[in-house]
Amino acid sequence: MAWLEIDETHAPERRSWHAEANEHPEFPIQNLPLGIFSRPGEKPRPGVAIGNHIIDLFAIRSLLPRDSDWWLDGGQLNALLGLPPAARRDLRRRLSELLSDNSYRSRVEPGLIAERDCTLHLPASIGDYSDFYVGIHHATNVGKLFRPDNPLLPNYKHVPIGYHGRASSIRPSGVPLVRPSGQAKGPDDAAPKFGPTARLDYELELGIWIGEGNELGEPIPIGQAPRHVAGYCLLNDWSARDFQAWEYVPLGPFLAKNFHTSISPWVITPEALAPFRTAQAVRDPDDPAPLPYLWDEGDQSHGALAIRLKVSLTSTHMRAARMEPAVLSQGSAVDMYWTAAQIVAHHASNGCNLNPGDLLGTGTISGAERSTWGSLLEITRGGAEPVELPSGEQRRFLEDGDEIVLTGRAEAPGYVPIGFGECRARIMPAKPILPISNKE
Ligand code: MN
Repeated sequence: MAWLEIDETHAPERRSWHAEANEHPEFPIQNLPLGIFSRPGEKPRPGVAIGNHIIDLFAIRSLLPRDSDWWLDGGQLNALLGLPPAARRDLRRRLSELLSDNSYRSRVEPGLIAERDCTLHLPASIGDYSDFYVGIHHATNVGKLFRPDNPLLPNYKHVPIGYHGRASSIRPSGVPLVRPSGQAKGPDDAAPKFGPTARLDYELELGIWIGEGNELGEPIPIGQAPRHVAGYCLLNDWSARDFQAWEYVPLGPFLAKNFHTSISPWVITPEALAPFRTAQAVRDPDDPAPLPYLWDEGDQSHGALAIRLKVSLTSTHMRAARMEPAVLSQGSAVDMYWTAAQIVAHHASNGCNLNPGDLLGTGTISGAERSTWGSLLEITRGGAEPVELPSGEQRRFLEDGDEIVLTGRAEAPGYVPIGFGECRARIMPAKPILPISNKE
């Protein structure tokens, strides 16, 4: 996997003539994430984040590798994501050269645009979205609420559990979500009722962008799975827990999950994350060995990612009082029971075809400690133990006006840390469903 080797683009001493990028907490020259942006009145187009600016790739196209004609794809990165990893690595090395070598400055600098003047869009046209459940602490915490003696179902350590989600309702950071209405039946209710969710929650996840696809009927061997991952993002799988509890039997999540999913708009490439690859946690000796199609020694030794993850919340009241966001949890992406490669290999193991720009969610990532739990369902133990906010307000689940921000930062000794940018969204009140006569 030559494209995942450490090269000059990761060198801590590499600096940019674009000085604000040096020591930038999210987007130093070692990151170079891909995205789609626009300024008011302009069409969305590809760009790369550097410091607080975006390089307009179309503006500097004459300086890029000649096989990079994918920008003709316009307002989506699907064609770029679908290129072989070597092409993506060539682009990265060239961008790193252009931004570090002062001799290119006069030709590249006119292509820099302040991010604050831009709107960031979904980076790809997402054909399909699937969500997994690889956070074993999350699965255990949630399972305990329903089955205290037997929280993990018997398949959990054999199968990367997942379900097919909904691509149409994925939105980039910043787009507000509307509190969904739906059907719920509490344990003491005689009958189900329909109305706005009373148990709105977030889920802290990583998103995995699919690169090269596979043909229908052609599984992806686990050793090849990293080739098919073109990047990562932060993903908030908004969830209506009351609808979920009522509807999920027997086919799994449906309307409790598909009303809105928020993602961070920058595609953090596998090349940028190469220094932060780390060993997958060793399985408990009592755990079953994965079946061979899910096992690869290289994946076990390098297939996890050292990314610190954080969730914070502000309420309407906190923002009015100019209070700092309340940090709800801080966890790590190493707390995944299955790796990204295992997720991809499993998804394609039956011959299901994945396409460039498909998105896979990891599932909620929680650690062992309460301070690392990635949803309110876990932190408040199903709403039984409310969280106290710095404003004195309490939260069992989310209220209208609450804003959730996910952030992520990859860190490793000897390397420049890189960030994911934000996955932010605010909750708007439910829309009433008006009775409409069909007699007109
Ligand atoms: Mn989820």
